[in-house]
Amino acid sequence: MTDRAGGPAAASTAGQFLDPGQPAGRRRMVSDAFAARFGTAPEVVGRAPGRINLIGEHTDYNGGRCLPLALPHATYAAVRRRDDDVVTIHSRTVDETWSGSLADLAAAGGWAAYAAGTLWAMEVDHGVDLLIDSSVPVGSGLSSSAALECAVAVATDGLSGRHLDEARRRELATACRRAETEVAGAPTGGMDQLVAMLAPEGDALLIDFHDDSVRAVPVPLAEVGLELLVIDTGVRHALADGAYAARRRECAAAAHLLGVPLLARAAQDSWSRLEDDVLMRRARHVLSEGERVDTADQAIVEGEWAELGAVLDASHASLAHDFEVSCEELDAAVESSRAAGALGARMTGGGFGGSAIALVETDDVGVVAASVLAEYASRGWSAPTFLRVGPSPAADTVP
Ligand code: ADP
Ligand code: MG
Repeated sequence: MTDRAGGPAAASTAGQFLDPGQPAGRRRMVSDAFAARFGTAPEVVGRAPGRINLIGEHTDYNGGRCLPLALPHATYAAVRRRDDDVVTIHSRTVDETWSGSLADLAAAGGWAAYAAGTLWAMEVDHGVDLLIDSSVPVGSGLSSSAALECAVAVATDGLSGRHLDEARRRELATACRRAETEVAGAPTGGMDQLVAMLAPEGDALLIDFHDDSVRAVPVPLAEVGLELLVIDTGVRHALADGAYAARRRECAAAAHLLGVPLLARAAQDSWSRLEDDVLMRRARHVLSEGERVDTADQAIVEGEWAELGAVLDASHASLAHDFEVSCEELDAAVESSRAAGALGARMTGGGFGGSAIALVETDDVGVVAASVLAEYASRGWSAPTFLRVGPSPAADTVP
């Protein structure tokens, strides 16, 4: 069973390049909408990016490494402090309003759980009016959920005028992750909130979930005439959430059999000791993906772009065959990108729909997008949406 994700807004951009807009223009839009709804200007506007994961998929909850980068596409949150304990949150994306008291925050459901849950996890002790707008496609594997949480977090934190240093950014990332796992009820490994809060502008962020350490990885693609093309398939298969939980259980079972607390801590070739074919393949993906993160990191440092493309391809194959989280729409996006000249391509995010990324020469972006569009049309599928992306700044207030 397949859902078309994103509703009318996504449908109207299908087959096109999705413009992230400029922060100043987006700030004006969200401030004007806030004033129209709440009668005064907001005190603070926060911005938090969506993300792609370059490589290192399904590794965060296994204590492994990943290499995400922040997108220019972002969620904006305008906020004003209230003197009572009333919280009102309006999202222009879904055109819905949630309202309640501070005591109701942890009981918010649906989309509001991500926003109200963030205020709950931050232990906000006063009411707020919030207005949300976004250029991140929703439910497309580009982490609109963390973008929503982190936009709410930096905007609301900004009411105090406190400086956002790395320690505070990490605290907010933890609060956002708690909102997603404990209030929205979506198990998440932590990559999305950390990259949204810590991404260095212009760089990808290598995160090692062994100790939650981070390191900036400069990715000078534009300088060498390359870019990353995101293909949002527009589909989200209904089994996605259940399968994600199942993969987590399988990884935990494999780790247990190998005698380690988290699968990424097992010795590199220890997967071959597992007798169960499914657990063996899950472990082989997680352990080999860790090696591919290192290979990608090295290829980027050395400017070996063909090598980077090859390791993206290898990651996709592992996710499709060993981890079994791809689907025919993702495979088609990846294969037609490569056929049209991409240096490499892979699914990104949890899988079962959502988005793929392709490493493409800037001159070939149009050809690659046209090739994917033609492939989708020939299969009778709706047109995907494309995003041209490069490493963008982390969440912050927008002055
Ligand atoms: P992804 O994070 O890949 O986009 P998720 O399923 O994790 O997909 O999160 C999508 C959900 O997050 C949406 O179904 C909605 O509940 C919520 N959400 C994200 N962005 C917004 C937004 N701008 N307004 C309202 N809800 C949002
Ligand atoms: Mg998400």
